[in-house]
Amino acid sequence: APAPPPARHHFSDPAEVEALRGNLLAWYDRCKRDLPWRALAATEPDANRRGYAVWVSEIMLQQTQVATVIDYYNRWMQKWPTLQALAQASLEEVNELWAGLGYYSRGKRLQEAARKVVSELAGHMPRTAEDLQKLLPGVGRYTAGAIASISYGQATGVVDGNVIRVLCRLRCIGANSSSPAVIDQLWDMANALVDRSRPGDFNQALMELGATVCVPKAPLCGECPVKQHCQAQRRKLFGKSIAVPDVEDCGVGDCPLCPPATEPWDSSLGVTNFPRKAAKKQPRAMRTATCVLERRGSCGAPEYLIVQRPSSGLLAGLWEFPSLPLAQDMQKKEREVLADHLQAWMGQPVSASGLRFIGEVTHIFSHIHQTYVVYSLPLDGDMTLDPASSPSRWVTEEEFHASAVSTAMKKVLK
Ligand code: SF4
Repeated sequence: APAPPPARHHFSDPAEVEALRGNLLAWYDRCKRDLPWRALAATEPDANRRGYAVWVSEIMLQQTQVATVIDYYNRWMQKWPTLQALAQASLEEVNELWAGLGYYSRGKRLQEAARKVVSELAGHMPRTAEDLQKLLPGVGRYTAGAIASISYGQATGVVDGNVIRVLCRLRCIGANSSSPAVIDQLWDMANALVDRSRPGDFNQALMELGATVCVPKAPLCGECPVKQHCQAQRRKLFGKSIAVPDVEDCGVGDCPLCPPATEPWDSSLGVTNFPRKAAKKQPRAMRTATCVLERRGSCGAPEYLIVQRPSSGLLAGLWEFPSLPLAQDMQKKEREVLADHLQAWMGQPVSASGLRFIGEVTHIFSHIHQTYVVYSLPLDGDMTLDPASSPSRWVTEEEFHASAVSTAMKKVLK
């Protein structure tokens, strides 16, 4: 069995754990943000619906700010108040409501999982973190822990980005916070710390602390309810000279949780020495030519042609202006290539010189730095599209914004 981590990296004193729980929960009761899914989880008598509401909120909150999510969450719950209602929705409806929230596969997977609960689990949400993770597609360890603790009162911890930051600071964990050794240690710590009588509140309190007080760049340590338990704060206040041997001695040897010897504590950073992350991979650069085909509609207002993307892959099933990914080394010929593509697709001649260059739009997807090279092409008459090509339709500007289109495409139209 691996050796237990050095004492300064975990909570070994039960009295300290009790005090930390009490301080954190008291602060949460005083200061927690009023969020719609919290209200529902606290008052809804139907356990299935509690689980569903927390699930929807947690999936929306992945990679997205709380302030953005609230409106989407409210509209979602109004449209599909139950798992059964969501299971009956079409992917098109889900994409329409999700439009603008990003990471579109989240909505699709949520709906697929709701269908599974209805068809294979008789409409009953699994009640433990283990079953939630095992049985629901798209539900990972964090989401399962959040649903089980908040909706069903299971005493199980959660580890998300906010919790990683808080725990790494509380216990001076400075090794790469995405390494398996650190992640395992943080899960063990979260499971050991979680309050047995109020697990959901405790987990939300820890995340809330990371989101509002123990923030990445300028944490508000003076207002922190757990500052007396924070090793990073002690390290910052007392420096090396004061006798805090359990903090100072660590790292001299091969401690797997300390900052690497090559990047030791930097006193100018204070508590933000923790956590440490491995260097981020650079996003992949991509260029895509896109053409806004425009015609006058029956009332004289402009209409635009949009086509649907394939049902799998990036932005699956969303609508976009006719687009063509470009090879990195062909910038000079892109207008000609786009014209050829449109010609094959529309079944009528399209001259490259007729394409008007409008500008470039950049958009960062999670792992792709995408540049759209935008052209426009006004059309006089109607056109007949090859029925074998992707589904397409003409939309007014208003219809465009109500369609399942990505934020990137809204930027293109703008
Ligand atoms: Fe974070 Fe500062 Fe609180 Fe420590 S004292 S947990 S660094 S806010």
